Amino acid sequence: MKIAFIGLGNMGGGMAANLVKAGHEVRAFDLSEAAVAAAREHGCAILASAAEACDGVDAVVTMLPNGAIVKAVYTNDVIGKAPAGAVLLDCSTIDVATARDVTTLAEAAAYDMVDAPVSGGIAAANAGTLTFMVGGTESAFKRAEPILQAMGKAVIHAGAAGNGQAAKICNNMLLGIHMIGTCEAFAMAQKLGLEPQTFYDISSVSSGQNWSMTSYCPVPGVGPTTPADNEYQGGFATALMLKDLKLAMEAAVSSGASTPLGKHAQELYEAFADENGGLDFSAIIKTL
Ligand code: NAD
Repeated sequence: MKIAFIGLGNMGGGMAANLVKAGHEVRAFDLSEAAVAAAREHGCAILASAAEACDGVDAVVTMLPNGAIVKAVYTNDVIGKAPAGAVLLDCSTIDVATARDVTTLAEAAAYDMVDAPVSGGIAAANAGTLTFMVGGTESAFKRAEPILQAMGKAVIHAGAAGNGQAAKICNNMLLGIHMIGTCEAFAMAQKLGLEPQTFYDISSVSSGQNWSMTSYCPVPGVGPTTPADNEYQGGFATALMLKDLKLAMEAAVSSGASTPLGKHAQELYEAFADENGGLDFSAIIKTL
């Protein structure tokens, strides 16, 4: 298949490389010279603009920083530039409203489109083990599924347009909340005289058990190897967690959902991100 790939950054670079590995012809574009150079090494053809990358393709995949950029790229460079009938896949994490807006514009021009944000970080993007949560019509999903399978280990249809983004921000709001809760529990356990390992041994098989504890423990030397064991380098950056919590709070306001813990998690990550935006989000334990 001929696939345009726009946005070859930390995530998109590995994803485009996996499409090449799966035998697709990838026509790539990014504003960054370094990103373009790496994609060329991975076998992508590099085009001079996003619109040129879309020329003659069967599908377009985008992996961009935010909703404003996604909307601008689709409006200026994809819709009307990709051949009629191409399927469009936006894998960026953006707000639900913009995802639905862009899909409406694409469908009005007779394209199938899905929003397909990912769970999993840079390592999963490189390894082709991302989870995709996909919003869009049944027929758009069916067409997007094999392309996403070449970049991930799980592809799940979440319902209509925008539902992929809805699933992503609800999941990450919950992740932010239980990471802070897990950090609080470890910090208090220690103040009460419990060794972190002892608390882990008990809580990881008791009702407080959760993913932030057993798969991503914020305490160095406890549980599996995590960013905590590497001075909180790598992993999922605090700045990206804050981005997702902001998107979640926007969605809470627009949908009338009551999310007091999500709001508090956003405030705590906002304060922490000021000086620590590049650290893994589990580093918030340093504040407790
Ligand atoms: P990144 O900043 O590394 O990559 C974004 C790329 O888009 C950059 O290379 C940039 O040059 C390019 N770009 C920006 N505007 C462009 C334009 N108009 N035309 C072409 N290229 C343009 O970001 P990332 O970490 O790869 O994240 C991409 C998306 O994936 C974001 O929406 C992010 O929230 C989401 N995400 C990231 C992670 C992660 O761990 N990094 C995990 C899950 C989801």
